[in-house]
Amino acid sequence: MKGFVGSLSGCLLPSKALMEEVFIKRSQQKKKTSPLNYKERLFILTDTKISYYEYDSERMKQGNKKGSIEMEKVKCVERVTAEENCPLDRQYPFQIVYDEGPLYVFAKNEDVRKQWIKELNNRIRFNQELMQKYHPCFWIEGEWSCCQQSAKNAPGCSIIKSMNSFPSAGNSRRKSRKPLPPTPVEEQQQMKRAPPPQPSSTPTKVVVALYDYQKMSPDDLSLQKDEEYVVLDDQDQHWWKARDMRGQEGFIPSNYVVESGNKLETYEWYNKEITRSKAEQLLKQEGKEGAFLLRNSSQAGKYTMSVYSKAPGDQSGKVKHYTVCVTPSNQYYLAEKHTFNSIPELINYHQHNAAGLVTRLRHPVSQQSKKAPLTAGFGYGAWEINPVDLTFLRELGNGQFGVVKHGKWRGQYEVAIKMIKEGSMSEDDFIDEAETMMMLKHDKLVQLYGVCTKQRPIYIVTEFMSNGCLLDYLKKHGKKLSSLQLLEMTKDVCEAMAYLESHRFLHRDLAARNCLVDEAGTVKVSDFGLSRYVLDDEYTSSQGSKFPVRWSPPEVLNFARFSSKSDVWAFGVLMWETFALGKTPYERFSNADVVDHILQGRRLYRPQQASETVYSIMYSCWDDKADNRPSFNMLLSNIQELVEDDSQA
Ligand code: ADP
Repeated sequence: MKGFVGSLSGCLLPSKALMEEVFIKRSQQKKKTSPLNYKERLFILTDTKISYYEYDSERMKQGNKKGSIEMEKVKCVERVTAEENCPLDRQYPFQIVYDEGPLYVFAKNEDVRKQWIKELNNRIRFNQELMQKYHPCFWIEGEWSCCQQSAKNAPGCSIIKSMNSFPSAGNSRRKSRKPLPPTPVEEQQQMKRAPPPQPSSTPTKVVVALYDYQKMSPDDLSLQKDEEYVVLDDQDQHWWKARDMRGQEGFIPSNYVVESGNKLETYEWYNKEITRSKAEQLLKQEGKEGAFLLRNSSQAGKYTMSVYSKAPGDQSGKVKHYTVCVTPSNQYYLAEKHTFNSIPELINYHQHNAAGLVTRLRHPVSQQSKKAPLTAGFGYGAWEINPVDLTFLRELGNGQFGVVKHGKWRGQYEVAIKMIKEGSMSEDDFIDEAETMMMLKHDKLVQLYGVCTKQRPIYIVTEFMSNGCLLDYLKKHGKKLSSLQLLEMTKDVCEAMAYLESHRFLHRDLAARNCLVDEAGTVKVSDFGLSRYVLDDEYTSSQGSKFPVRWSPPEVLNFARFSSKSDVWAFGVLMWETFALGKTPYERFSNADVVDHILQGRRLYRPQQASETVYSIMYSCWDDKADNRPSFNMLLSNIQELVEDDSQA
């Protein structure tokens, strides 16, 4: 509130008031049952505290102090998503999170909110316990409305944006290991505190390359597998600035390295994130007695050893799964008599002795060594791709935007190239958004590598998925897939959607036809957000013949109200498509019949392949009321639980 300092100059201000403003403050609901109230308070920020006072708005007079928070104890200052249909004076909320949870305040406009968030963040950047994740929505009546967790101290469900490289972030204060040079006031403050922060020139970490990486842009640095690198700047989530042992500097893909201490990642047998059925598939493919791998167990923090053995005359062989146990004194074992200080020592022992296992560990099997992971774009900052670097191979299909071709980038990297038919896309809007879309990076999202926008038609270049679209894959191979495999496919999609949800990014056209399948049978979500740029009334109007009516909830059909909960509805339909092996939902109905059916409260039937529990998960996505549908996070934990049960069977 500009100009307010002057009008208060006659009041009893605390010394060194840096900023002051009248905000609406929400009561803190320390008990589940305590009622919510909203009161006008005068907030005053000083060097060390943020305090709030009663305030008489008519006489513009400060009253009694009602509370204060030590700035040192603040863990996060972020905006909060305003509640739907909230009063006008509560449209710009933000949160100051400290030991006792969040304090919610409402600014009168966006400028004031931005200014306070910026200033408060600036003041807390050296704090010891800054949060990496937070809750973007309110804590209401015993529940976080963003993720439905019911413990007030439940860890945040969204990464704080300034932790990653999203263009809107632009704030470097999160990396407390590499603080900005202090201002004089901060210097004085730090002198009082112990211990002082590390000098900013201290290298942050040493990493080891897990794969070779050939530099793709002039600013990059090539990596050699097993060599060490010093990370100089890890502000960007995907591209870190690093120095090699010869003193050369440049950007490296952060997913190609691990911190030197993380020894497991450097072993061939460690397959961090593969599922039980993928492990079985890999080991059977290898087909050698004693083929083995170590993977993260579905129980957090635990590991599972999967071992293949084949009795004489047995055609397909069997895979056994052993949990790596840990004693109270942190010794690892598979067979109780033989305990070790570390997992590599345990594996080394069992490579020479079966000692209770079905066979000794003979052949390490690895998914990772075969294929280096994808990078976010081709080189640091390189989102505009030069079309001369592309070679075109065969046509993959034809979609809403035109032809999609298989191709190569610089003759080496496989890509898919969407050649955007002129007049089919609102190109400028897409180009504005493409950079943000490129920053979305998840194992289960089809990676956007870049765009060619300097010519017509423009190209969208993405990860190539050799098994094509999920819908065709289900029609073709569905009968050969077990229920567990089908469930794992929906889990892949749910993981990607939970990631998009945590970045508050809506898909808007989730369906089996918009997911793709890679070489290993992993399903990835594609075309996220693209529907916003379609120029075709038949597709964009809910009356149009191409509108995805069969994937739309009542609030989209009635009011075009999209939200992550409309994506949840579509996910339920995608689960149905998966378990119905690629059938069209509401097969025999016209679009108009589907709308009637849905608005009358009727739903899709249970596909034969889906158990009652699987059906109850998809059904939960089809609640009339968007708010009653689960979040993707919740769906993911339900599916995860079922995958575990299923694979134990
Ligand atoms: P559009 O976005 O223009 O509607 P689609 O994404 O539906 O186009 O692509 C049309 C077809 O091309 C898909 O059904 C699929 O078979 C194929 N395709 C699209 N993208 C890829 C990819 N990244 N890898 C492999 N095949 C792809």
